[in-house]
Amino acid sequence: MRNIPFNKPYNFGKEMDYIKNVIAGGKTSGDGEYTSKCQSILEHQLDAHNILMTTSCTHALELALQLIPLQEGDEVIMPSYTFPSTANSVLLQKGCVVFTEVNHDDLCIDVNRIQEKITEKTKVIMVVHYGGNACDMDAIMAIARKYDLYVIEDAAQGFLSTYGRQALGTIGHFGCYSFHETKNISAGEGGALAINTLNPDVVKRAEYIRQKGTNRKDYCLGNVEFYQWVDVGSSYCPSEILMAYLYAQLEQIEEIHEKRVTIFNHYQKLLEKIDSNKIMYYATGNSFGGFNAHIFYMIFNKPSYAIYFMERLKEKGIAAYTHFIPLHVSKMGQSLGYHVDDFPYERDLYKKLVRLPLYPSMTEDVLQQVMMAISEVLKELDHREDIPDDINRYSCI
Ligand SMILES: *Cc1c(COP(=O)(O)O)cnc(C)c1O
Repeated sequence: MRNIPFNKPYNFGKEMDYIKNVIAGGKTSGDGEYTSKCQSILEHQLDAHNILMTTSCTHALELALQLIPLQEGDEVIMPSYTFPSTANSVLLQKGCVVFTEVNHDDLCIDVNRIQEKITEKTKVIMVVHYGGNACDMDAIMAIARKYDLYVIEDAAQGFLSTYGRQALGTIGHFGCYSFHETKNISAGEGGALAINTLNPDVVKRAEYIRQKGTNRKDYCLGNVEFYQWVDVGSSYCPSEILMAYLYAQLEQIEEIHEKRVTIFNHYQKLLEKIDSNKIMYYATGNSFGGFNAHIFYMIFNKPSYAIYFMERLKEKGIAAYTHFIPLHVSKMGQSLGYHVDDFPYERDLYKKLVRLPLYPSMTEDVLQQVMMAISEVLKELDHREDIPDDINRYSCI
Protein backbone atom coordinates (compact mmCIF):
# COMPACT_ATOMS: atom_id res chain seq x y z
CA MET A 1 0.00 0.00 0.00
CA ARG A 2 1.28 3.44 -0.96
CA ASN A 3 1.62 6.12 1.63
CA ILE A 4 -0.27 9.22 0.64
CA PRO A 5 1.14 12.44 2.09
CA PHE A 6 -0.88 15.43 3.20
CA ASN A 7 1.07 17.90 1.12
CA LYS A 8 3.78 17.75 -1.51
CA PRO A 9 5.61 20.68 -3.10
CA TYR A 10 4.98 20.92 -6.83
CA ASN A 11 8.10 21.58 -8.84
CA PHE A 12 8.02 20.31 -12.36
CA GLY A 13 9.02 23.74 -13.62
CA LYS A 14 12.28 25.50 -14.14
CA GLU A 15 13.37 25.81 -10.50
CA MET A 16 16.80 24.23 -11.02
CA ASP A 17 17.54 26.18 -14.22
CA TYR A 18 16.82 29.50 -12.57
CA ILE A 19 18.80 28.65 -9.44
CA LYS A 20 21.75 27.70 -11.66
CA ASN A 21 21.45 31.07 -13.43
CA VAL A 22 21.72 32.87 -10.11
CA ILE A 23 24.74 30.90 -9.02
CA ALA A 24 26.43 31.37 -12.40
CA GLY A 25 25.72 35.10 -12.27
CA GLY A 26 27.41 35.36 -8.90
CA LYS A 27 24.82 37.64 -7.28
CA THR A 28 23.11 35.50 -4.68
CA SER A 29 22.10 38.20 -2.17
CA GLY A 30 18.69 39.82 -2.43
CA ASP A 31 17.02 42.38 -4.69
CA GLY A 32 18.45 41.13 -7.99
CA GLU A 33 16.78 40.10 -11.20
CA TYR A 34 14.58 37.30 -9.80
CA THR A 35 13.36 39.33 -6.86
CA SER A 36 12.23 42.00 -9.26
CA LYS A 37 10.61 39.42 -11.56
CA CYS A 38 8.66 37.90 -8.65
CA GLN A 39 7.61 41.36 -7.54
CA SER A 40 6.31 42.22 -11.04
CA ILE A 41 4.39 38.96 -11.41
CA LEU A 42 2.76 39.50 -8.02
CA GLU A 43 1.87 43.14 -8.71
CA HIS A 44 0.31 42.12 -12.01
CA GLN A 45 -1.46 39.01 -10.68
CA LEU A 46 -2.85 40.76 -7.61
CA ASP A 47 -3.33 44.17 -9.20
CA ALA A 48 -1.33 45.57 -6.28
CA HIS A 49 0.43 48.95 -6.11
CA ASN A 50 3.43 47.90 -4.12
CA ILE A 51 4.76 44.47 -3.33
CA LEU A 52 7.90 43.84 -1.31
CA MET A 53 9.31 40.33 -1.34
CA THR A 54 10.13 39.05 2.14
CA THR A 55 11.73 36.04 3.77
CA SER A 56 8.36 34.87 5.14
CA CYS A 57 4.79 35.89 5.85
CA THR A 58 5.83 36.14 9.49
CA HIS A 59 8.32 38.83 8.48
CA ALA A 60 5.77 40.57 6.26
CA LEU A 61 3.44 40.76 9.28
CA GLU A 62 6.24 42.12 11.46
CA LEU A 63 7.07 44.71 8.82
CA ALA A 64 3.42 45.79 8.57
CA LEU A 65 3.15 46.28 12.34
CA GLN A 66 6.31 48.41 12.32
CA LEU A 67 4.89 50.57 9.53
CA ILE A 68 1.69 51.44 11.36
CA PRO A 69 3.54 52.04 13.78
CA LEU A 70 2.19 50.34 16.87
CA GLN A 71 2.82 52.01 20.25
CA GLU A 72 3.21 50.15 23.52
CA GLY A 73 -0.21 49.09 24.82
CA ASP A 74 -2.04 49.58 21.51
CA GLU A 75 -4.64 46.89 21.00
CA VAL A 76 -4.93 44.67 17.96
CA ILE A 77 -8.04 42.57 17.40
CA MET A 78 -7.50 39.20 15.69
CA PRO A 79 -9.10 35.75 15.68
CA SER A 80 -7.88 33.29 18.27
CA TYR A 81 -8.08 30.66 15.57
CA THR A 82 -4.89 31.52 13.69
CA PHE A 83 -1.19 30.76 13.43
CA PRO A 84 1.14 32.22 16.14
CA SER A 85 2.84 34.60 13.66
CA THR A 86 -0.27 36.81 13.51
CA ALA A 87 -0.02 37.45 17.26
CA ASN A 88 3.78 37.47 17.53
CA SER A 89 4.01 40.44 15.17
CA VAL A 90 1.94 42.46 17.65
CA LEU A 91 3.79 41.36 20.79
CA LEU A 92 7.14 42.14 19.17
CA GLN A 93 5.96 45.77 18.90
CA LYS A 94 4.76 45.70 22.53
CA GLY A 95 1.14 45.78 21.46
CA CYS A 96 -1.73 43.91 23.14
CA VAL A 97 -3.43 41.03 21.40
CA VAL A 98 -7.23 41.00 21.71
CA PHE A 99 -8.68 37.71 20.52
CA THR A 100 -12.06 37.38 18.89
CA GLU A 101 -14.35 34.71 17.44
CA VAL A 102 -14.54 33.14 13.99
CA ASN A 103 -17.61 32.15 11.98
CA HIS A 104 -18.57 28.52 12.51
CA ASP A 105 -18.51 27.66 8.82
CA ASP A 106 -15.77 29.55 6.90
CA LEU A 107 -13.65 30.00 10.06
CA CYS A 108 -12.96 33.63 9.18
CA ILE A 109 -13.27 36.48 11.71
CA ASP A 110 -16.89 36.94 12.91
CA VAL A 111 -17.60 40.57 11.99
CA ASN A 112 -20.48 40.75 14.47
CA ARG A 113 -18.11 40.26 17.40
CA ILE A 114 -15.52 42.89 16.45
CA GLN A 115 -17.15 46.12 17.61
CA GLU A 116 -17.69 44.91 21.19
CA LYS A 117 -13.91 44.45 21.47
CA ILE A 118 -13.02 47.98 20.34
CA THR A 119 -11.67 50.33 23.03
CA GLU A 120 -9.84 53.69 23.05
CA LYS A 121 -6.63 51.77 22.58
CA THR A 122 -7.65 49.71 19.57
CA LYS A 123 -5.49 50.50 16.59
CA VAL A 124 -5.66 47.56 14.22
CA ILE A 125 -7.93 44.73 13.07
CA MET A 126 -5.98 41.76 11.76
CA VAL A 127 -8.02 39.40 9.63
CA VAL A 128 -7.00 35.90 8.57
CA HIS A 129 -8.38 34.48 5.34
CA TYR A 130 -8.67 30.91 6.57
CA GLY A 131 -8.06 28.16 4.04
CA GLY A 132 -8.45 30.60 1.16
CA ASN A 133 -11.91 31.76 2.36
CA ALA A 134 -12.26 35.54 2.23
CA CYS A 135 -13.23 37.47 5.35
CA ASP A 136 -16.16 39.86 4.87
CA MET A 137 -13.93 42.76 3.84
CA ASP A 138 -16.69 45.32 3.13
CA ALA A 139 -18.02 44.97 6.67
CA ILE A 140 -14.51 44.98 8.16
CA MET A 141 -13.38 48.06 6.21
CA ALA A 142 -16.59 49.85 7.27
CA ILE A 143 -15.83 49.16 10.95
CA ALA A 144 -12.23 50.29 10.40
CA ARG A 145 -13.37 53.57 8.83
CA LYS A 146 -15.90 54.20 11.60
CA TYR A 147 -13.29 53.78 14.37
CA ASP A 148 -10.26 54.97 12.40
CA LEU A 149 -8.40 51.66 12.57
CA TYR A 150 -5.85 49.98 10.35
CA VAL A 151 -6.63 46.65 8.71
CA ILE A 152 -3.92 44.08 8.12
CA GLU A 153 -4.80 41.00 6.09
CA ASP A 154 -2.97 37.82 7.00
CA ALA A 155 -3.35 36.35 3.53
CA ALA A 156 -0.81 33.56 4.13
CA GLN A 157 -3.51 31.12 3.00
CA GLY A 158 -5.34 33.57 0.78
CA PHE A 159 -2.99 34.00 -2.17
CA LEU A 160 -5.06 33.86 -5.40
CA SER A 161 -8.45 34.03 -3.67
CA THR A 162 -10.50 37.17 -4.18
CA TYR A 163 -13.17 39.28 -2.50
CA GLY A 164 -15.35 40.21 -5.43
CA ARG A 165 -12.76 41.21 -8.00
CA GLN A 166 -10.11 42.30 -5.52
CA ALA A 167 -7.27 39.96 -4.58
CA LEU A 168 -7.11 39.08 -0.90
CA GLY A 169 -4.28 41.02 0.70
CA THR A 170 -4.91 44.15 -1.40
CA ILE A 171 -8.00 45.46 0.40
CA GLY A 172 -6.78 46.37 3.89
CA HIS A 173 -3.88 48.77 4.51
CA PHE A 174 -1.40 45.91 4.35
CA GLY A 175 -1.57 42.32 3.10
CA CYS A 176 0.84 39.54 3.98
CA TYR A 177 1.47 36.44 1.87
CA SER A 178 3.34 33.21 2.54
CA PHE A 179 5.31 31.02 0.17
CA HIS A 180 6.10 28.44 2.84
CA GLU A 181 6.33 24.83 1.68
CA THR A 182 2.80 24.13 2.92
CA LYS A 183 1.16 26.97 0.99
CA ASN A 184 -0.23 26.91 -2.57
CA ILE A 185 2.82 28.52 -4.14
CA SER A 186 5.92 27.55 -2.25
CA ALA A 187 9.58 28.44 -2.11
CA GLY A 188 10.32 26.45 1.04
CA GLU A 189 10.24 29.66 3.05
CA GLY A 190 9.25 33.03 1.66
CA GLY A 191 6.64 35.74 1.67
CA ALA A 192 5.53 39.13 0.42
CA LEU A 193 4.02 42.32 1.77
CA ALA A 194 1.42 44.29 -0.17
CA ILE A 195 1.48 47.95 0.79
CA ASN A 196 -1.91 49.21 -0.25
CA THR A 197 -1.50 52.83 0.75
CA LEU A 198 -0.25 55.26 -1.87
CA ASN A 199 1.76 57.24 0.68
CA PRO A 200 5.35 57.22 -0.66
CA ASP A 201 6.79 57.72 2.85
CA VAL A 202 5.31 54.40 4.00
CA VAL A 203 6.80 52.57 1.03
CA LYS A 204 10.18 54.20 1.60
CA ARG A 205 10.17 53.29 5.28
CA ALA A 206 9.22 49.72 4.44
CA GLU A 207 12.24 49.53 2.16
CA TYR A 208 14.51 50.88 4.92
CA ILE A 209 13.22 48.44 7.53
CA ARG A 210 13.46 45.52 5.12
CA GLN A 211 17.09 46.38 4.30
CA LYS A 212 18.56 46.51 7.81
CA GLY A 213 17.49 50.10 8.40
CA THR A 214 19.61 51.34 5.49
CA ASN A 215 18.85 53.27 2.31
CA ARG A 216 20.49 50.56 0.23
CA LYS A 217 17.65 50.76 -2.30
CA ASP A 218 18.40 54.46 -2.99
CA TYR A 219 22.04 53.52 -3.45
CA CYS A 220 21.23 50.69 -5.87
CA LEU A 221 19.06 53.08 -7.88
CA GLY A 222 22.02 55.49 -8.05
CA ASN A 223 20.18 58.19 -6.07
CA VAL A 224 22.81 58.43 -3.31
CA GLU A 225 26.57 57.93 -3.31
CA PHE A 226 26.78 55.84 -0.13
CA TYR A 227 24.22 53.90 1.74
CA GLN A 228 23.93 54.33 5.46
CA TRP A 229 21.91 53.64 8.59
CA VAL A 230 18.71 55.71 8.35
CA ASP A 231 16.08 53.93 10.47
CA VAL A 232 15.48 51.07 12.88
CA GLY A 233 15.35 48.00 10.70
CA SER A 234 15.79 44.31 10.22
CA SER A 235 16.65 41.88 7.44
CA TYR A 236 13.56 40.74 5.57
CA CYS A 237 15.04 40.58 2.09
CA PRO A 238 15.15 37.08 0.57
CA SER A 239 18.15 35.71 -1.32
CA GLU A 240 18.08 35.57 -5.13
CA ILE A 241 18.37 31.77 -4.93
CA LEU A 242 15.05 31.66 -3.14
CA MET A 243 13.47 34.12 -5.56
CA ALA A 244 14.70 32.06 -8.53
CA TYR A 245 12.84 29.07 -7.10
CA LEU A 246 9.77 31.16 -6.38
CA TYR A 247 9.76 32.65 -9.88
CA ALA A 248 9.57 29.15 -11.38
CA GLN A 249 6.63 28.45 -9.08
CA LEU A 250 4.87 31.66 -9.99
CA GLU A 251 5.16 30.74 -13.68
CA GLN A 252 3.04 27.65 -12.88
CA ILE A 253 0.28 29.50 -11.02
CA GLU A 254 -2.46 28.47 -13.48
CA GLU A 255 -1.53 24.81 -13.46
CA ILE A 256 -1.18 24.59 -9.68
CA HIS A 257 -4.44 26.46 -9.21
CA GLU A 258 -6.42 24.25 -11.58
CA LYS A 259 -5.12 21.03 -10.08
CA ARG A 260 -5.96 22.13 -6.54
CA VAL A 261 -9.44 23.26 -7.49
CA THR A 262 -10.15 19.95 -9.26
CA ILE A 263 -9.23 17.93 -6.16
CA PHE A 264 -11.19 20.26 -3.89
CA ASN A 265 -14.29 19.90 -6.09
CA HIS A 266 -14.02 16.11 -6.03
CA TYR A 267 -13.93 16.10 -2.23
CA GLN A 268 -16.88 18.45 -2.06
CA LYS A 269 -19.00 16.34 -4.43
CA LEU A 270 -18.12 13.20 -2.51
CA LEU A 271 -19.26 14.67 0.79
CA GLU A 272 -22.46 16.04 -0.76
CA LYS A 273 -23.29 12.46 -1.74
CA ILE A 274 -22.35 10.86 1.58
CA ASP A 275 -24.38 13.14 3.85
CA SER A 276 -23.03 11.69 7.12
CA ASN A 277 -24.75 12.56 10.39
CA LYS A 278 -21.34 12.68 12.11
CA ILE A 279 -20.17 15.70 10.12
CA MET A 280 -21.18 19.20 11.15
CA TYR A 281 -19.68 21.07 8.21
CA TYR A 282 -17.25 20.68 5.35
CA ALA A 283 -15.47 23.26 3.20
CA THR A 284 -17.55 24.62 0.34
CA GLY A 285 -15.19 27.25 -1.05
CA ASN A 286 -14.90 31.02 -0.77
CA SER A 287 -18.38 32.55 -0.63
CA PHE A 288 -17.11 36.05 -1.56
CA GLY A 289 -15.19 35.44 -4.78
CA GLY A 290 -12.52 33.40 -6.54
CA PHE A 291 -11.12 30.51 -4.55
CA ASN A 292 -7.56 29.16 -4.27
CA ALA A 293 -8.57 25.74 -2.83
CA HIS A 294 -5.94 26.00 -0.11
CA ILE A 295 -7.54 23.61 2.37
CA PHE A 296 -10.31 21.06 2.27
CA TYR A 297 -11.53 20.68 5.84
CA MET A 298 -14.29 18.75 7.55
CA ILE A 299 -15.66 19.60 10.98
CA PHE A 300 -17.06 16.63 12.88
CA ASN A 301 -19.76 16.85 15.55
CA LYS A 302 -17.44 15.43 18.20
CA PRO A 303 -13.66 15.21 18.71
CA SER A 304 -13.86 11.41 18.96
CA TYR A 305 -15.30 11.19 15.43
CA ALA A 306 -12.46 13.29 14.04
CA ILE A 307 -9.85 11.17 15.82
CA TYR A 308 -11.42 7.94 14.66
CA PHE A 309 -11.54 9.28 11.09
CA MET A 310 -7.88 10.40 11.10
CA GLU A 311 -6.65 7.19 12.74
CA ARG A 312 -8.50 4.95 10.28
CA LEU A 313 -7.18 6.96 7.32
CA LYS A 314 -3.70 6.64 8.77
CA GLU A 315 -4.11 2.86 8.93
CA LYS A 316 -4.93 3.03 5.24
CA GLY A 317 -1.72 4.99 4.60
CA ILE A 318 -3.41 8.37 4.19
CA ALA A 319 -2.24 11.46 6.06
CA ALA A 320 -4.93 13.82 7.37
CA TYR A 321 -4.46 16.45 10.03
CA THR A 322 -6.28 18.82 12.28
CA HIS A 323 -5.16 22.46 12.36
CA PHE A 324 -4.32 25.41 14.66
CA ILE A 325 -4.48 24.99 18.40
CA PRO A 326 -6.34 28.26 19.05
CA LEU A 327 -4.00 30.90 20.42
CA HIS A 328 -6.09 31.60 23.52
CA VAL A 329 -5.80 27.92 24.49
CA SER A 330 -2.06 27.69 23.78
CA LYS A 331 0.60 28.14 26.45
CA MET A 332 1.41 31.67 25.32
CA GLY A 333 -2.27 32.67 25.15
CA GLN A 334 -2.71 31.41 28.71
CA SER A 335 0.24 33.49 29.87
CA LEU A 336 -1.46 36.57 28.36
CA GLY A 337 -4.36 35.92 30.75
CA TYR A 338 -6.78 34.10 28.49
CA HIS A 339 -8.84 31.17 29.77
CA VAL A 340 -9.37 28.00 27.82
CA ASP A 341 -13.15 28.50 28.04
CA ASP A 342 -13.13 32.07 26.71
CA PHE A 343 -14.04 30.95 23.20
CA PRO A 344 -15.74 27.53 23.43
CA TYR A 345 -16.25 27.03 19.69
CA GLU A 346 -12.59 27.73 18.91
CA ARG A 347 -11.49 25.71 21.96
CA ASP A 348 -13.01 22.55 20.49
CA LEU A 349 -12.56 23.34 16.81
CA TYR A 350 -9.09 21.95 16.40
CA LYS A 351 -10.19 18.68 17.95
CA LYS A 352 -13.08 18.36 15.51
CA LEU A 353 -11.50 19.67 12.31
CA VAL A 354 -9.71 17.42 9.81
CA ARG A 355 -7.86 18.53 6.69
CA LEU A 356 -7.62 16.13 3.75
CA PRO A 357 -4.57 15.61 1.53
CA LEU A 358 -4.49 18.20 -1.25
CA TYR A 359 -1.54 18.79 -3.55
CA PRO A 360 -1.20 19.47 -7.28
CA SER A 361 0.73 16.32 -8.18
CA MET A 362 -1.96 14.06 -6.69
CA THR A 363 -2.86 11.60 -9.46
CA GLU A 364 -6.36 10.49 -10.39
CA ASP A 365 -5.53 7.04 -8.93
CA VAL A 366 -4.43 8.44 -5.61
CA LEU A 367 -7.43 10.75 -5.43
CA GLN A 368 -9.76 7.80 -6.05
CA GLN A 369 -7.97 5.80 -3.36
CA VAL A 370 -8.37 8.65 -0.85
CA MET A 371 -12.04 9.15 -1.72
CA MET A 372 -12.72 5.44 -1.39
CA ALA A 373 -11.08 5.42 2.02
CA ILE A 374 -13.10 8.46 3.12
CA SER A 375 -16.36 6.77 2.09
CA GLU A 376 -15.45 3.57 3.89
CA VAL A 377 -14.40 5.25 7.10
CA LEU A 378 -17.44 7.52 7.17
CA LYS A 379 -19.67 4.48 6.68
CA GLU A 380 -17.97 2.74 9.60
CA LEU A 381 -18.36 5.87 11.67
CA ASP A 382 -22.05 6.16 10.90
CA HIS A 383 -22.58 2.66 12.31
CA ARG A 384 -20.85 3.43 15.57
CA GLU A 385 -22.30 5.29 18.50
CA ASP A 386 -19.84 4.07 21.08
CA ILE A 387 -16.70 6.12 20.58
CA PRO A 388 -15.61 7.62 23.90
CA ASP A 389 -14.93 11.36 23.81
CA ASP A 390 -11.90 11.30 26.08
CA ILE A 391 -9.34 10.05 23.55
CA ASN A 392 -6.43 12.42 23.64
CA ARG A 393 -4.44 11.74 20.54
CA TYR A 394 -4.26 14.56 18.06
CA SER A 395 -2.00 14.62 15.03
CA CYS A 396 -1.13 18.20 14.33
CA ILE A 397 1.09 20.08 11.87
C1 LIG B 1 1.57 29.85 7.22
C2 LIG B 1 0.95 30.96 7.95
C3 LIG B 1 1.72 32.03 8.47
C4 LIG B 1 3.22 32.01 8.46
O1 LIG B 1 3.77 32.03 7.19
P1 LIG B 1 5.37 31.90 7.03
O2 LIG B 1 5.61 32.29 5.61
O3 LIG B 1 5.71 30.48 7.32
O4 LIG B 1 6.00 32.84 7.99
C5 LIG B 1 1.06 33.08 9.06
N1 LIG B 1 -0.28 33.10 9.17
C6 LIG B 1 -1.05 32.10 8.70
C7 LIG B 1 -2.53 32.20 8.83
C8 LIG B 1 -0.46 30.99 8.10
O5 LIG B 1 -1.23 29.99 7.66
